[in-house]
Order: sequence, then C-alpha cells, then structure tokens
Amino acid sequence: MELGVIAAELADAARRLHQRGFMLATSGNLSAVVSREPLRLAISSSGKDKGSLKPEDFLVVNEHGQTAGAGKPSDELPLHLELADKAKAGAVVHTHSIWGTLLSDRHATDGGLTIQGFEMLKALSGVKTHEHREWIPIIENSQDYGVLRAQVKKTLAAHPASHGILLAGHGLYSWGKDVSEAVRHAEGLEFLLEVKGRKEQAEGR
Ligand SMILES: [Zn+2]
Repeated sequence: MELGVIAAELADAARRLHQRGFMLATSGNLSAVVSREPLRLAISSSGKDKGSLKPEDFLVVNEHGQTAGAGKPSDELPLHLELADKAKAGAVVHTHSIWGTLLSDRHATDGGLTIQGFEMLKALSGVKTHEHREWIPIIENSQDYGVLRAQVKKTLAAHPASHGILLAGHGLYSWGKDVSEAVRHAEGLEFLLEVKGRKEQAEGR
C-alpha cells in the first residue's frame, strides 16, 4: 500500500485512540508495514501529541531502524520491528491507558493476566466465543529498548496465541494484519482490561 495512504490511516487511528484516552499527550505510538522484503515500517515520530498527529508525522524506517530522511522515530521502534518481524504484524498499536497501566502493575508478578467470559473477546481475530481464554503476558518495563525487544521476542515464542503484550506500569502492545485489525485489537483489549480492572475493584481485590 502507498505510504501516504498508510500514514493517513495511522494518523486517523491515533486521533481516535487519543479521544478514548488511550494515547494521551505524547504517549503511545503506531506503525504499519510499508514493505516486507526488505522490511520497511511507517512509524510515528518521537514526541508528537497523538491528538493532532498528521500523516507527515510518520517516518519510514528500515529493518535496522534507520530513517531515510530527517526526524526521529519513536524510542520504542525496536519493539515495533520485532512484532512486524516475529508476529508477522502488518500494523502495531501501542497504548498507555489507565487500566492497562494499573493492571499490568498489579499482575506483573504473575507474568500476565487472563481474560475470559466476555463477549468483547470476539473482537480478537480467530476468537469465536466469549468462553475463549485470553492470556496477556506482562513483561517488566525498561528504558532499554534492546532489552525489551529481547523480552518481546521470548514472549511471542512462548505465547504465540496472545493478541497483546503488556509492559508493567507502562502500557499495551497489540497488533494485527493491517491498521484496522490492529486498532480493533487495541480497542477490544483496552475495553476488556477496563472490565477486568473494574470487576476486581468491585470485588475488593
Ligand atoms: Zn510506551
């Protein structure tokens, strides 16, 4: 797909996720695969407000994280490259919601959390019933994105059926075959995290 079309789609997605409170201020980032061989990604520039992202705020990087022109990609680029490569993601959406932050912190010592029994699970590709058991792995947060990339690689290998990965006290990575599926997964998982968080709260946990 043409870069301009992908960048416009990503900018629209960012505004939509910002409106829902999932990408406030400069938090979160998004990417999509522009070409597979060689791998090239369009990714949001570092430090931009996600409520006013424009198509020109996306940069193209190669598999080594190098950009063709000026500008600096998001610091979290290594994780996007890993997901594009190992999870075969066509697009990656990274959100920083309140419930994702709280639950990833609370369940960090369990190494992940399970969501089961809710109709919204059917927003996830391949899921046909609310009885589906979704395991969302949680990895320890770090400012060393090389370390995080290695953790994401290990986690994807151990939990190939998961639709998202949480970074503890930080946020959610979700992905899909294209931008619309990645956004659907992000919205579905964020909804499910809020349901789980509110349920735990109501039960006094
Ligand atoms: Zn982040």
